[in-house]
Amino acid sequence: MLDDAPVIDSDRHVVEPDDLWLTYMPEAMRDRAPQPTGRHSMFIDFNGVEGPPRRNFREGGRSKGVLPMYADERFASAAAVDFDAASHRVDMEQEHIDLAVMFPTRGLVVFGMAGIAPDLVGAAATAYNSWLADLCSEGDGRLHGVGAVSLYDIEGARKEVRRCVDELGFVGIFIRPNPVLGRPLHHRDYEPLWREIAETGVPLCIHEGASVNLPQVAVDRFEEHAFWHACTHPMEQQMAMASLVLGGVLERNPDLRVGFLECGAGWLPYWMWRLDEAAELDEHELGKLSLTPSEYVRRQCFVSADSDEETAPFAVEALDGGHVVWGSDYPHPDAKFPHALTSLHGLPWRDPSHFRSIVWDNPREFFGEGLREAADRLLLGAPAS
Ligand SMILES: [Zn+2]
Repeated sequence: MLDDAPVIDSDRHVVEPDDLWLTYMPEAMRDRAPQPTGRHSMFIDFNGVEGPPRRNFREGGRSKGVLPMYADERFASAAAVDFDAASHRVDMEQEHIDLAVMFPTRGLVVFGMAGIAPDLVGAAATAYNSWLADLCSEGDGRLHGVGAVSLYDIEGARKEVRRCVDELGFVGIFIRPNPVLGRPLHHRDYEPLWREIAETGVPLCIHEGASVNLPQVAVDRFEEHAFWHACTHPMEQQMAMASLVLGGVLERNPDLRVGFLECGAGWLPYWMWRLDEAAELDEHELGKLSLTPSEYVRRQCFVSADSDEETAPFAVEALDGGHVVWGSDYPHPDAKFPHALTSLHGLPWRDPSHFRSIVWDNPREFFGEGLREAADRLLLGAPAS
């Protein structure tokens, strides 16, 4: 709690242990499971395919091939216990964060690989989700999971959505924005999956990450980490939003809430205008859209602001206080730990109520009933329903 506002961190990261997939995948698949190339390695070998592509992490870089949080003094005590649930609790308390929603680290790589058999990707997602549920169960109600699904197998993904929500109690479903098997997010094949997610009442959480061998903006022309890291997060998310809005997914699924995480917020007012222009100019190319793109965004979309993002207050104002949540990005290299929340609080808020909106009101609305009930029980003393 900061400045009397209870705080939800809408984008925090787990650090998957070296042996996660070896332990949690079915025995018959273990020789093909994703495995780090060494202790705490940032590179993963998944049945002969390696990610992230080494060309984007040159020799002599900051972490020398080890996951960067293991080489960062700020996270030393959590790294010593491999970022277990208790260490998250301790570091959250230090930053006044009451409750957190957990996204992958190594999973961002594993679910960004191409050329892996669909049954293996599906099993890797199921294994990740089971491990994540175990981690969250040790978080005293303060850690909440977002489940991973494989976009290679849509029927399998639908079943996993149900398991994630009904059995594991997760508060969202995670995918990357990059096209899998050449399908953009508005491809008709995905329709049953989006419908399933909407029916469960949890949001679709789109999260870009490290460079991958799926199609990805910027990595096709730049070699340096700085270049593609600047581009991939916002630009892949802008394309994902264009796909879902102009491609009619939000028209066909009015109850589907979609979040675009770790991409900043300042671009959103511009992008809403830009999509409106595109829809007006080339209406003849698009299917039925009963609203303008910016109206779909106002009905169904959320973005996450970064801790020191000076354009975040501008975006929240343009959206009347709504549609923006906040993620600490702990414990990734660009996280501002231990000053993430105080950085956010120190931004030039012209309307001070907007700070509370993005750390409390908006994430409760975005993640929906499951997280809302947990947050209210934990932080407001509401009775269990
Ligand atoms: Zn993130």
